[in-house]
Amino acid sequence: MLSVSGARGIVGKTMTPEVAAAYGAAFGSFLRSTTGKARPRVVVGLDGRISGPPLAAAAIGGLTAAGCDVIDIGVAMTPTVGVMIGHHKADGGLAVTASHNPIQWNGIKCLDGDGLAPPPAIAKEIVDRFRERRIDWCGPLQTGRVERDGGAARVHVDRVLANVDVASIRARTFTVVLDSVNGSGCIGGRMLLEELGCRVEHIYGEPTGVFGHVPEPLVENLVDLANATRNAKGAACGFAQDPDADRLAIVDETGRFIGEECTLVLAALRLLQRTGGGALAANLSTSRMIDDVAARFAGSHVVRTAVGEANVVAGLRPANGILGGEGNGGVIFPPVCWVRDSLSAMALVLELLAHEGKPLSQLVAALPRYAMVKRKMELAAVGGMAAVAPALAKVKAAFAKERVSDVDGVRIDFADGWVHLRASNTEPIVRVIAEAPDAARANALCDACAKAAEI
Ligand code: MG
Repeated sequence: MLSVSGARGIVGKTMTPEVAAAYGAAFGSFLRSTTGKARPRVVVGLDGRISGPPLAAAAIGGLTAAGCDVIDIGVAMTPTVGVMIGHHKADGGLAVTASHNPIQWNGIKCLDGDGLAPPPAIAKEIVDRFRERRIDWCGPLQTGRVERDGGAARVHVDRVLANVDVASIRARTFTVVLDSVNGSGCIGGRMLLEELGCRVEHIYGEPTGVFGHVPEPLVENLVDLANATRNAKGAACGFAQDPDADRLAIVDETGRFIGEECTLVLAALRLLQRTGGGALAANLSTSRMIDDVAARFAGSHVVRTAVGEANVVAGLRPANGILGGEGNGGVIFPPVCWVRDSLSAMALVLELLAHEGKPLSQLVAALPRYAMVKRKMELAAVGGMAAVAPALAKVKAAFAKERVSDVDGVRIDFADGWVHLRASNTEPIVRVIAEAPDAARANALCDACAKAAEI
C-alpha cells in the first residue's frame, strides 16, 4: 500500500527486502537529484519489529548503492529519526515502521532534511520513483558508507529535557506506569521518565518487538495498563506508546482511559500556561477542546489543517506555533522535532501535573466535554472515488449558511458542534466524524451530513 505516508505491506508478501531495497534506492536517487549533493546523508532507524532488521538492511543497501551515506541508529522511535536528522545535519531520514499496525505489517516512511514528513506532492514523487523504479545506481567508487550511532535515544531525551521544566517535575517524584508495547519506545521512554525523577513501573518494556497486546493505543488494548496504574501505589498516571512511539495515550491515576483526544489538549494547556499564549495547529478531525482551551489565553488561536502529519506541520511552521498535533495522541513540539513525539507529550503532561498540583482525573474533568462519533464507509459502497467530489459539493450546498471549510473534504461548523466528511488518504474508506455536546446530537450531525451527501 503506497500513500503520502510511505509504503506499508504484509511482511513476506507485499513488504519484502526486495521492496525495501528498491524503496531505499528510489529515495536515495530522489535525494541525489533534489539536493544536488553527490553523497546525501540519510538517518535510518527501525521500530523494533522482529521483521525490521532484514528490511532495514535492505533499505540501507538500496540507499548506499544509490550513493547515499547512511547513519544507522538501529531500533529507534520515529521522532528520534527526526531528531537525529538535525543532529547529524543529514539530508533525510528513513524509518522502517508500520506504526500502530499489527505485527504482520511493516513499512517505510521517509523524512526530509528538516525532519519533516514530506508534503503530499513530494511524497508522491518519491512513491512514483519507486513504482517506476527510476533509480540512479551509483558507480563502484561512489557507493555510500554506513556509520552506526548507538546514542540516538540519549540525544532525543536530552532535547526534550532542555525544553521542559525538569526541576518542577523532579520535585514531585511521580510514580508513572509506562506501556511501551515492547516497541521502540522502551529505552527512550524509560530514560526520559527516570531523568524526570519518576519511579517507573514499566509494562511491555522489553524491546523484543513481540507486541504484548494489539499495538494501537486505544482503550480496548490498554486493559493491562489501566489495571497496573490502578494497582500501583500512588501512581500519577499511565502512559501508552505505540510501536514507533509517535503517539501517546493516557490513563488517569484511577486507571481510567482519558481518551486519545486529551493528550494534545493537556500538552497544549501546559504550553499555553507557560508561554501566556500562542498559535496551535490541529487537523480538522481533532476535537474542539483544543479551541476551548486556546480561547482561555489571549492572542491564542488554532490553525486547522488537512489530516496528516505533514499538513499539520505545514500549518504550524508559518504560524510560529508553539504546539501542533492530531486527536490520535500525536503531539508535535517544534523545539524537539517536527514529528509527533510521545516523549514530548509525556514530559509536557507531567509538567502540567507538577504545576497544577492536582490529580490528572481532576484536570481532565475540568476540560470541556464532548461526544465524538466516528463512522466509516467502504469507498466501493458509496460509488468509488468518483462519487466523493459530487458528495462533498452536495454537503457544501446543503449547509451553505453555516461555517464551511473545504481544506480537506468538507467540514461544517455549527454553534454546538461540527461534522467532517472526507476520503481517507491511506485506506479505501470515507470517514464521517462529528462532535457535539452529546452522542445523540453527534449522531444526528453524521446522519444529516450523510443524507445531504446522498451516500
Ligand atoms: Mg505510530
